[in-house]
Amino acid sequence: MAIGKKLSASITVIFGLFAFSFMVFQHYREKEFKIECLNIQLQDYNLRLSESLYSSGSIADSIVESYIHRHEMQNLRVTIIDSLGQVLYDNRIQDYITMDNHLHRKEIREASEKGQGTDIERTSATMGEEYFYSATYIPQLGLFIRSALPYNHDLKDSLRAEKEYIWLALAVFIVLTFILSRFTRKLGNNINKLQTFAKRIALGESLEIEELAEFSNDELGEIAERIVKIYKKLQITKEEQNKLKRELTQNAAHELKTPVASIQGYMETILTHPDISDEMRQQFIVQCFSQAQRMTAILQDISTLNKIDEAPVAYEFNEVDISQIVGQIVDASALHLKEHRMHFDNKLPSSLLAYGDASLIHSIFRNLTDNAISYAGDGSTITLTHSDKDTHWQFTFSDNGVGIPAEHLSRIFERFYRVDKGRSRKLGGTGLGLAIVKNAVQLHGGMIAAFQNKDGGVRFVFTIRKSVGHP
Ligand code: ATP
Ligand code: MG
Repeated sequence: MAIGKKLSASITVIFGLFAFSFMVFQHYREKEFKIECLNIQLQDYNLRLSESLYSSGSIADSIVESYIHRHEMQNLRVTIIDSLGQVLYDNRIQDYITMDNHLHRKEIREASEKGQGTDIERTSATMGEEYFYSATYIPQLGLFIRSALPYNHDLKDSLRAEKEYIWLALAVFIVLTFILSRFTRKLGNNINKLQTFAKRIALGESLEIEELAEFSNDELGEIAERIVKIYKKLQITKEEQNKLKRELTQNAAHELKTPVASIQGYMETILTHPDISDEMRQQFIVQCFSQAQRMTAILQDISTLNKIDEAPVAYEFNEVDISQIVGQIVDASALHLKEHRMHFDNKLPSSLLAYGDASLIHSIFRNLTDNAISYAGDGSTITLTHSDKDTHWQFTFSDNGVGIPAEHLSRIFERFYRVDKGRSRKLGGTGLGLAIVKNAVQLHGGMIAAFQNKDGGVRFVFTIRKSVGHP
């Protein structure tokens, strides 16, 4: 059975039991109250009758009868019994002399012990009807006066009153059951949906089904909907990641194809033309070597990116002097800079300490410098400045060269992305440099963005955390 139905059934049963117990309790309370009222009324009657008899000084039938006549009560039965249990008078029974001894009767027994007694619903041996008896012992007269009224009449009344209560209880019961069933149905629906969701995940089935599209507008519905949404989002992210990985592998294969093909070409020529000049052969071998170097560079970049992605903890962070690293790069690039009539305006102080991985920090500045030399254009200037951002150092690496068109700016950090594919490849670029820069910056708790300079050229602004302890 579904959980909603189970819940609904058990709550209905509990409520039904509760309503029934309450009705039984109410019935008994009412019955007791009615009996109490009846008893007070009859005891009062008994006492008044005894007073009347006492004042008249006789218990003759005629005197009793005239009292009863004067104080008429419908269906009233009055019995007078002496202290030995002998019936002396009964207004309902003509030959009361023949009636058996009443001393053993409950109400008489109680009256002889406590002064008054009652008996309820006792089927009268004499009348064949149900009566409520109330007996009083009158010590002055040495008599029991017992009056009784049919109990049936009152019970029916009471039941009639109960009937209204029963109808009311039934109506409340139906209304509550209706509300409850609506509530549990909603609850059950949500639970069923979650069950379907769990089953489909386990079987690896699609979650894009109508049943999982909408949830009821309550707390559980909201929670269920959120769980399903988060899971779907995770699935999409995973799919996107897989797609990205596939694309990267394809790109990597594509990038490696060119050097492999040219190495193959040169080798084939050497093999199929054993008679080519030594000079030619030497030239071909040099070409092969440079293509193999290019392949190594690509593979190195890919492995750096993979390492940052998959095993960032493998990097050991130490205190590094960024100024020193930059100084080395400027020195190493001196020849290239000169070739392009470029100038590197390094405005960093003599020492700038940070906590990080020296090789990655080296690649950040190295890639930016190489890019500027490759793409900015002859005669341009590179300017490197820094500012203190409390927990981070902020760097601005700027050049005044050809720049990058605005539409490419947001994409240059993607792997294998090049603005001018042909030109970049000719210069030996694979489009991995800035991807490494971005990942390395992020690994050092920083961020990077590229902007167009007003006077042309491109400006990279990025931060590097000063120490590992900072957020
Ligand atoms: P790799 O760095 O992997 O050898 P790459 O230099 O082509 O290859 P990135 O360093 O990622 O790749 O640069 C991406 C592209 O951004 C470059 O192809 C180039 O078109 C452009 N670019 C980068 N820096 C500059 C710059 N300073 N001025 C103009 N264009 C630039
Ligand atoms: Mg580059």
